[in-house]
Amino acid sequence: MAKVRLTTNFPGFFLDLGMGITINRGDSWIEAPDTIELQQAIDNGYVELQKEKQEAVEKIKDGNEVWVFAEQRNNKIPQIVFELLGKAKELAKKLNVNVGAILLCEKDNNLSKELIEYEADNVYLAENPLLKNYKTDFYTKIIADLIKKESPSIVIYGATHIGRDLAPRIAQRITTGLTADCTGLDIDNDGLLLQTRPAFGGNIMAQIKCPDHKPQMSTVRPGVMKIAEKDGSRKGNIIKVETEISEKDSLTKIIKIVKENKLIANLEKANIIVSGGRGLGTKENFKMIEELARLLKAEVGASRAVVDAGWMSKDHQVGQTGKTVRPKLYIACGISGAIQHRAGMQNSEMIVAINKDPNAMIFNIADYGIVGDLHKIIPLLIEELKK
Ligand code: FAD
Repeated sequence: MAKVRLTTNFPGFFLDLGMGITINRGDSWIEAPDTIELQQAIDNGYVELQKEKQEAVEKIKDGNEVWVFAEQRNNKIPQIVFELLGKAKELAKKLNVNVGAILLCEKDNNLSKELIEYEADNVYLAENPLLKNYKTDFYTKIIADLIKKESPSIVIYGATHIGRDLAPRIAQRITTGLTADCTGLDIDNDGLLLQTRPAFGGNIMAQIKCPDHKPQMSTVRPGVMKIAEKDGSRKGNIIKVETEISEKDSLTKIIKIVKENKLIANLEKANIIVSGGRGLGTKENFKMIEELARLLKAEVGASRAVVDAGWMSKDHQVGQTGKTVRPKLYIACGISGAIQHRAGMQNSEMIVAINKDPNAMIFNIADYGIVGDLHKIIPLLIEELKK
């Protein structure tokens, strides 16, 4: 006996499986005997077998780990990796498996230890002088080979420049799917990874699963997940990974690394953010936001409308196509609260909104709302703070 249901390929309203058993269109899984009719229906693609799926899910639960790609630059692990480890731990607990971290570097200067302190049970460590700087082809080869060998059930990457370059390459190499820019990850009742991300211009949140290919892979934007808890006494394993790479096999050559000499807004780590929107009216008026931020020792954020108008640079943009932030206090001035803006700031601990329109969407998520003209309210706040 097997559990079966009709696929959308079946043209009729019901299918006779022999021995007096029929499946009707719209039926969920039903028990069916192994008859010649059933075999023919499977061969024609008319029915789907649940048995195979259950086996795939059992295989995942059977010890396959949840992995995090532990990106590093100049021997420094960025915060996103610790955020991913926090989420990986939560997912691994639900699947009853371990957390693994993949670390590629020239030399492990205590980076593995740091990953273990932040919840990694096993660190897969590849050391090679050729891994001093990130190179897509070396990283792809090493990680793809390692995934094939160890069969993790899930691999997550930061949606950083490196993660966005690397994850699709690996997905293609090992023939699996990849959901980019996830804002939520969970495990469903079948033990599969439930990947949530904005879709259709951010107007809906889509939930995506990858049931037929392994591992299930996602990239996650910095600032979305909570950072793992550090515990200096944690113990884990460091597993050395062979690196069969040579400069002559690489398609690219690093000639020079040029660092951009620019002050980048550090919104992801800010405790307070004062953000301005189109309601400010002009670039000149935006200076009010900068002054208020300076007095509050806050970072300056902006809506996309402000960035598109050229009042602020893109690294200040908060939202779906900007940064994801979770400060203790977020002050939104003259921002309507479009879904794409909210996607980047709705996890802030406290939200204060100033808007002249009492029906502005930002008030739906604000803890405190001030309905009024910001040209009057912000100068008053500045005056008070100066006192
Ligand atoms: P508006 O929507 O024009 O709102 C201005 C607000 O100011 C209004 O609510 C108004 O009542 C108020 N106001 C006007 N004058 C005053 C005054 N004197 N005093 C007080 N209040 C006043 N947007 C983002 O912010 N971040 C993103 O990452 C982002 N990504 C996007 C991705 C896609 C694919 C798409 C389609 C859109 C994206 N957007 C993003 C754009 C988003 O849809 C909105 O258009 C944008 O957020 C609007 O910016 P705003 O709130 O500053 O402007």
